[in-house]
Amino acid sequence: MKEFVCIVCPNGCHLTADDDGTIHNAGCRRGVEFAREEMTAPKRTVCSTAATVFADCPVVPVRTSKEIPKEKVGELMQMIRTLCVDRRMKRGEPLIRNLFGTEADLIVTSDMGYTYFVDTEDQADG
Ligand code: SF4
Repeated sequence: MKEFVCIVCPNGCHLTADDDGTIHNAGCRRGVEFAREEMTAPKRTVCSTAATVFADCPVVPVRTSKEIPKEKVGELMQMIRTLCVDRRMKRGEPLIRNLFGTEADLIVTSDMGYTYFVDTEDQADG
């Protein structure tokens, strides 16, 4: 028997799978599909942040456009750690295309707009 915590929704059902593949304790059909996938080819969506060259936006949130094989998550995190984004990007733009041949992209999930700082000391002097 194998045990899983379903990560498809916040309920986090505790699933069990018999040796014959029968799934128990799933609150819905998606949990059954999740457990079956976990037993055969587990996948994950990866969310992280990447460094940039911009002082007003030193990091940008990124995620995979769809799930990638769980076994590739560590390798992707290593890749993300080496990134340094050197141009302003818009939400949804791909940073890396076709990760590991999966057709999933690593995309930016926030606009890298400019941040305008107000110098409060100048205002106090004025
Ligand atoms: S089995 Fe269904 S209800 Fe339970 S955590 Fe998974 S998706 Fe949510």
